[in-house]
Amino acid sequence: MTRGGERIEAETNPKRPLFGATADELRAWVAAVGHKPYRVKQIHQWAFHRRPKSFADMTDLPLDLREKLDAEWTLFATDLAYRGVADDGTDKLLLRCRDGRNIECVLMADGTRRTVCVSTQVGCGMGCVFCASGLKGVERSLTAAEIFDQVLQSQQLLPPGESVTHIVVMGMGESLANLDNLLVALDRVCSPHDGLGMSQRRVTISTVGLPEKIRKLAGEDRQYHLAVSLHAPTEELRDELVPVNEKIGLTAVLEAADDYFRITGRQVTYEYVMLGGVNDRPQDAAALGRLLRGRKAHVNLIPYNAVAGLPFVRPEPDDVRRFTERVRGLGVAVTVRRTRGRSIDAACGQLRRRYESAAGPPTVAIGAPS
Ligand code: SAH
Repeated sequence: MTRGGERIEAETNPKRPLFGATADELRAWVAAVGHKPYRVKQIHQWAFHRRPKSFADMTDLPLDLREKLDAEWTLFATDLAYRGVADDGTDKLLLRCRDGRNIECVLMADGTRRTVCVSTQVGCGMGCVFCASGLKGVERSLTAAEIFDQVLQSQQLLPPGESVTHIVVMGMGESLANLDNLLVALDRVCSPHDGLGMSQRRVTISTVGLPEKIRKLAGEDRQYHLAVSLHAPTEELRDELVPVNEKIGLTAVLEAADDYFRITGRQVTYEYVMLGGVNDRPQDAAALGRLLRGRKAHVNLIPYNAVAGLPFVRPEPDDVRRFTERVRGLGVAVTVRRTRGRSIDAACGQLRRRYESAAGPPTVAIGAPS
C-alpha cells in the first residue's frame, strides 16, 4: 500500500498490526510458520473479541505460535497514551501513533449503548471557524489500522460482557477526505469473520459535505448512516462558518445528500452547531425550516462546546428550545444533541490540543495504562 502513514509505520516498527493482514494473508503466514489454517480463526477470535493484553494471553494457541506471532505482529496499531474519565460515563482516549502523532477517540456509555466516536485524520483541513480540530490544518490522514484501532482500544476498556454497539465518525478530521481508508476500517469493524461483527446500520459517518465523496459512498452498497454538517441555512452564513462552502455551495451539498437518500434509502441527518447570536436567530430557524421542509431529513442541533481562544459562545437553553420549536413548527424533524464529557475536553480536537500545549495533560488523567 502506498499510504503515507503506513510507510512511516514500516520504517519505525518492523512489526505489523494484526489488522493489517487479511484472513488470506494471515493464513499464508500461519502455514509458513508450520501451523494449521484453523489457527487464523482462533487468532481473530482472540484479537477482536477476547481482549488479550498480549499474544501470551492466547493460551489455547501452541506456545511456539504465540512466540512467532509476538515476534512479527502487534495486537494494536497505536499505544494508549492517556485516558480521561468523566463523571457521565464518557471516556476520552488519546492514542499515540507509531510516528508519534496523537489521535483522539471518545467512548460513551448510554443505557445499553456503547458508542465510539472515531477520528479519521490528524488535524483537519476544512477550517470550520468554530472547531478546535482544524486550527492548525491537517497533518495527515489516518491509516485504516489507526481508525480500526480506536474501536478496538475502546472495546478493550469495556467490562467483560460489554462491547462497542455503535460508531460515530465524528472525531478529528474530515471523514470523506479519507474515505478509502475509512471504508477498509469500517468493513473490518462490521465483518463477522475477521472483525468485530457490528451492523453497518449502527455506524454514522459525519461529513462537512463533499458532494462527489457523498455520491461515491452512496454507490458503495453499504448501509452506513450519513450526517451532513450544515451549520447554516444560507450560502452567506455557511461561507462564513464553513469556509469550504465557498467552493462547494449549499445547493450542491443538499443535492448530494438527496442522492444519498435516493440511492441508499437511508434518511440523512443534518448537524447544526448552535453558536449563540450567530446562527441561532429566529430568521435562521425559519430559513432552516424552509430549506429542509419536504426533504426526508432530520436535524440534530448541537449546542456549541466552547473552545478556548475562539470567539463563539454556547446559546442559552431557552434559545435552543425556541429554535427547536420554530424548526419543528415548519414540519422538520429535529432533536438536540446531549453534551457529553465536557469535563474531559471531549469535543473534537480539544484534548489533543491541550495535551500537546505547554499546559500538559489535563488533570483528570488516570495515568497511562499500558
Ligand atoms: N469533518 C466532519 C466530522 C467533524 S466532527 C464533519 O464536518 O462533519 C462532528 C461534528 O461536530 C461536526 O458537525 C462539527 O462541525 C461539530 N463540531 C466541531 N467542533 C464543535 C464544537 N466545539 N462544539 C460543537 N460541535 C462541534
